[in-house]
Amino acid sequence: MNPLPNTHYVGGVWAEDVGPTFDVTNPLDDSVVAKVAAGGRPEAEAAVAAAQSAFPAWANMTPGERQLLFLRAADITERRHDEIVHLLAVEAGTGRAFASFQVKLSANLLRQAASWGYLPYGDLLRSDTPGRMAMATRKPLGVVAGFTPWNGAFFLAWRTIVLPMAFGNTVVIKPSELAPMSAGLVQAEIFHEAGFPPGTINVITHAPGDAAGIADVFFESPHVRCINFTGSDRTARILGERAGRALKRTVFELGGYNPMIVLEDADLDHAARAVNFGAFFHQGQICMNTRKVYVARTVHDDFVARLATRTAALKSGDPLEAGVVIGPLINYTAVEKTEARIHEALTAGAKLVTGGQRTGRVHAPTILADVPPGSPAANGCDETFGPLLVVEAFDDPEEAFARAQNTPFGLSAAIMTGDAARGLAMAQRFDTGIVHVNGSTMAGEASLPNGGVKDSGWGRSGHYAVEDFTEIRLTTVTTGPGHYPF
Ligand code: ADP
Repeated sequence: MNPLPNTHYVGGVWAEDVGPTFDVTNPLDDSVVAKVAAGGRPEAEAAVAAAQSAFPAWANMTPGERQLLFLRAADITERRHDEIVHLLAVEAGTGRAFASFQVKLSANLLRQAASWGYLPYGDLLRSDTPGRMAMATRKPLGVVAGFTPWNGAFFLAWRTIVLPMAFGNTVVIKPSELAPMSAGLVQAEIFHEAGFPPGTINVITHAPGDAAGIADVFFESPHVRCINFTGSDRTARILGERAGRALKRTVFELGGYNPMIVLEDADLDHAARAVNFGAFFHQGQICMNTRKVYVARTVHDDFVARLATRTAALKSGDPLEAGVVIGPLINYTAVEKTEARIHEALTAGAKLVTGGQRTGRVHAPTILADVPPGSPAANGCDETFGPLLVVEAFDDPEEAFARAQNTPFGLSAAIMTGDAARGLAMAQRFDTGIVHVNGSTMAGEASLPNGGVKDSGWGRSGHYAVEDFTEIRLTTVTTGPGHYPF
């Protein structure tokens, strides 16, 4: 296993002097996993300068040259599978299945991005001026500053890096202080080995509480053209206000409430499997986790019984142990929030279907029914971001649809039905960036345009990210004498 990188990567070089450090701890038992460089303004300034000086050559590199680099990075990512799975377990409490999935998805993303340089990069347009040819061509923005999260740390960091870089931008990454290695430093190592030119990717780590100081540098620099953030809407509002003042573009992938509607004609076993997976994947710490399921009253009890059996059988504990699905929550703040939500709902009269207890930071997957609609667990206004699912019966599908839409978030939704046409008709009316008919709210594929609307943010993954990370330049060439009004 390689020693884990623990210092800044700027201009193709690992900082020789690590300088001050902070402890990255294992969420399972608080043991120190690594001491990682606690960077600040000077390191961030150097990273932006390196990204800016690498930008012209990277933007002009041929698609074939870039393709080779991305393909090499995909192979290296796969080769390091076991080590990355281990790192994700100890740094972010990630179970083997999700960690392994992230490695595969990342290699897939890198291989797909390898071909994006060959996509058409503009249009020829008709002009009303005789003899004029007009071209709308896409050009990269410049330096993109990426904030990566701790939850889907490995894949989401790749997404933050690869989407802008595939379209010719260079990047500076500020990983989450909770998982700086799997959300930035490992990616820099892989790109370094693959031979990416110095300065195309730069990573600055920082101690808890120092994020805003690093962000200051991004907002102040005229070279940083875009803030690319994955995280909470709370932090996005701060970044968005600052980006507004600095007139910088933002790409935001934020939280979700992600309702599932189970109609009376659904395959109940499939629905129970989809909800069990969607709600408890990574112990409920993913923006696309199902938070609430609306079930037709005629099948409600049958569905809940099938779901509860599956959920109660999920193995909890150390994510390094084979078969463990439910690992520790990232910190005690997350544990306390989950517990407070459950306690409040039970006090207000909700029924505990399964779960409710915890050992250390490992909280049992929990299902609540009959939760009063105003309860924080059920009102759709704030993600619990823990292993908590609310089940609610409905009599009329339209009433369920209206309740499911009643949230400021708009990331993912799902409908289970035996009639795909009926599901599709309802799906088209959902005010979300993603909707699945007969699938979980949680679904990730590197090529598909995941992203949100409303308080879930904006921006899309897959090659659709070309809209987020390039701008259109209009160029005209006139061959005639030209026409002017005076
Ligand atoms: P969490 O839910 O883990 O607190 P957030 O989504 O709020 O995560 O934050 C994610 C990222 O935003 C982290 O990398 C964190 O360092 C960064 N961050 C938090 N507060 C600020 C801030 N005021 N300015 C800039 N970045 C911030």
